[in-house]
Amino acid sequence: MRLLYSDILIPLDQAPIQMGMLVVSESGKIEEIVSPNSENYSLENAQYYAGALIPGFVNAHCHLELSHLKNKVSRHTQLDGFVEELMSVRSASQEEISSSMKAAEEELFTKGCVAVGDISNGSASFQIKQGSKIQFHTFIERFGLSADVASRSFESGISLLNSLQELNLNGSLSPHAPYSVSDKLIDMIIEHCLDNHSIMTIHHQESHSENDLFQSGQGPMLERFQRMGISASGFNAKGKSSASWLADRIHTNQKIMLVHNTFSNREDVQAIHVKTKNAYFCLCPKANLYISNALPNLNMLLEEECELIIGTDSLASNDSLDMLDELRTIQNAFPSISSPDLFRWACLNGAKAMGMENNLGSFSIGKTPGIVNISNFNAKEMLILPESEARIV
Ligand SMILES: [Zn+2]
Repeated sequence: MRLLYSDILIPLDQAPIQMGMLVVSESGKIEEIVSPNSENYSLENAQYYAGALIPGFVNAHCHLELSHLKNKVSRHTQLDGFVEELMSVRSASQEEISSSMKAAEEELFTKGCVAVGDISNGSASFQIKQGSKIQFHTFIERFGLSADVASRSFESGISLLNSLQELNLNGSLSPHAPYSVSDKLIDMIIEHCLDNHSIMTIHHQESHSENDLFQSGQGPMLERFQRMGISASGFNAKGKSSASWLADRIHTNQKIMLVHNTFSNREDVQAIHVKTKNAYFCLCPKANLYISNALPNLNMLLEEECELIIGTDSLASNDSLDMLDELRTIQNAFPSISSPDLFRWACLNGAKAMGMENNLGSFSIGKTPGIVNISNFNAKEMLILPESEARIV
């Protein structure tokens, strides 16, 4: 047994407990939570952690495959500039790609991630995932604007998914973004996710230009397609936002994870909610600042009662894979949000989104959620400080 206590214990399935103690089995299972006014409370053999103890983070959106692109793409170029630059620097030796992914996986774990939703276009990350302490859910991502390539893109996704599952790793198919798939391809993926009871993720309203393209069929995104030689001839202006288009396509109460939502408005969120109550809105604030120097309208998302989850996105658009840094960024921009709420999004909601809530996301008896110490945490005012750090313990 391990006994751990800290200035504030934040179990997430009950109110925070000052000087609360965790009783944990050797395998990491939560056996008991003891408050200082209980007669079972004894500091003998207990280890003290200054700051807070919280459950392990569930990072809902990452791209291990892009780990070698740290500091290689300029900031604030907006999404279309970012993608163009990314494509020009993406290639690297297998060795460089592998060692960067391994370093990223280690950073994720030491900074407290016990589970990660990771986007993969190929199989390069599978071996690292197989040997990892992190539970990965791999989203096999598919592209293709032309309906002619839909079947081929879908079938190659299925074959990647099969090789993932042969390694006993979890995953599902996902479309890259509303602007990069045909109706035919996204419909095939939607059906596959429904048939397999799996969650689908999609990059969503990360740029103004996505909205322009859907509304009018014009704008910077179309110009980028032309510069990059991507045929957008099959893309007709929809006269509606990509959120409305997506809501039309998904099934009632389909489980879906919408990533970014930087330029989503109230009508967009309502359109999704009318169709499904099983939607999770993933925030990757540091990537949004890196690419667009903008943040989602968090007050609106809260007013619309969105289920919020948190991701780091990739090292191509972030200087770290540190979930606490994402939460600090949100707290700085929206000081009225309490840190237990932020931790709930980053732990419990992420676990729910990825179907891992039976074992992860809170210090509930019987779970094995991982334990993270937030040092230099202001336990009195429940504030993440500039010097706060997260570490798995
Ligand atoms: Zn992404």
